Amino acid sequence: MRKGALNKPMSLHVRKTLKASTPLLSLFFCGFAVQAQTQYDLLIQNGHVIDAKDKISAVRDVAIKDGKIAAVESHIDPKSALKTVDAKGLYITPGLIDIHVHVYASTGERGSYAGDQSVFPDGFTLRSGVTTVADAGSSGYKNFDDFKEHIIDRSKTRVLAFLNIVGAGMRGPKFENNLADMEPAPAAQMALRHKGLIIGIKTAHYAGPEWTPVEHAVKAGTEANIPVMVDFGTNHPERPISILLTQKLRPGDIYTHVYSGLRDELDPSGHVSSALWNGRKHGVIFDVGHGGGSFAWRVAVPAIKEGFLPDSISTDLHITSMNAGMKDMLNLMSKFLALGMSVDDVIARSTWNPAKEIHHEELGNLAIGAPADVAVLRVEHGTFGFTDMYGARMNGTQKFECEMTVKGGKVVYDLNGLSRPDWRTLPKNYKAIGDPRWDGLNPRVSNH
Ligand SMILES: [Zn+2]
Repeated sequence: MRKGALNKPMSLHVRKTLKASTPLLSLFFCGFAVQAQTQYDLLIQNGHVIDAKDKISAVRDVAIKDGKIAAVESHIDPKSALKTVDAKGLYITPGLIDIHVHVYASTGERGSYAGDQSVFPDGFTLRSGVTTVADAGSSGYKNFDDFKEHIIDRSKTRVLAFLNIVGAGMRGPKFENNLADMEPAPAAQMALRHKGLIIGIKTAHYAGPEWTPVEHAVKAGTEANIPVMVDFGTNHPERPISILLTQKLRPGDIYTHVYSGLRDELDPSGHVSSALWNGRKHGVIFDVGHGGGSFAWRVAVPAIKEGFLPDSISTDLHITSMNAGMKDMLNLMSKFLALGMSVDDVIARSTWNPAKEIHHEELGNLAIGAPADVAVLRVEHGTFGFTDMYGARMNGTQKFECEMTVKGGKVVYDLNGLSRPDWRTLPKNYKAIGDPRWDGLNPRVSNH
């Protein structure tokens, strides 16, 4: 309503005026006319929208204004937008959310997830349709400020964090098995100081038989009112997952690496353990966390067949997983298509579900007013192969590709130049021709 009705008479008036005006005036009116006519900055047309929050799975147009979703309708007039992109045959989804990555790459520390085991996020995320990641415990309260300064504040990707219950962070066994450095109070204080940025507490890789890491993580999570994500470390009869999932964790806490098979996720007969079903009943969330060593076909296939689907699909991106079976978010999502899940089910578990799990419900959806983080995805059909942690392959017939990624209303990745004009239509000496209101890649230098 703001702008829908107002501009038609105005633009007619402007056109008439232009004919009679001086060059200077016409420049002024020209700029004014463009602004007056464009209700939206960016319009993505004709794509199949999947928005699990609003239960939309249908062909729609999506319009963006000032970095926010402004309209999702069956038809939006292309004249109402500065830039229109045709997404016919493609999916339009919320920007993907990957809640298990390791991106604290800046320290130079060898053999450490607070160092060389991590990757810089922007090289892996936007090109895969991912606009938000959560680092899964690479930093603890002692080095979170350094992580924030060097990675979080400098990345185009929205980087959130699970804070490690280990104060020193994920720096190897010497640190991660040190019970004395797992203090709930300073971890909770750091999380409260960075509300919305630290979205959970992580415990991981613990080799001993004690419950202390889990208990202290839950204590910190309770104090800061955020979930705990558990990588349950070495399997010990003293701390079985049946107790973890029904007594130690709270509803909303997250069990990651669910298809690793390393901690009795399947019972000896090869069926999904009753511990997992009971944990789900208790409200525990089950996350993929594929990584380099946490996803086996021989676990995932029977689990999915028995109906134990993941709540969220996450990569556990790091230097070992990036070129092995995991590769990237879209390759991982394609594995779940190969496992028989629908495109809609896979997208929900890569957008709206993880948004809810990390208490960021403004993300992972395309409701009016939501941040305009959008992935434009293609599902390729053919014969594809997908490998697991042991190097075993499973074939599939569908594969996700990312055509375009929009973050905060701006195009930040565009594989085939869907948003770009053919070079032959441009002036002879063309330079950067995008508009900063929608273009995060080649915006014109001049101001608007
Ligand atoms: Zn991890």
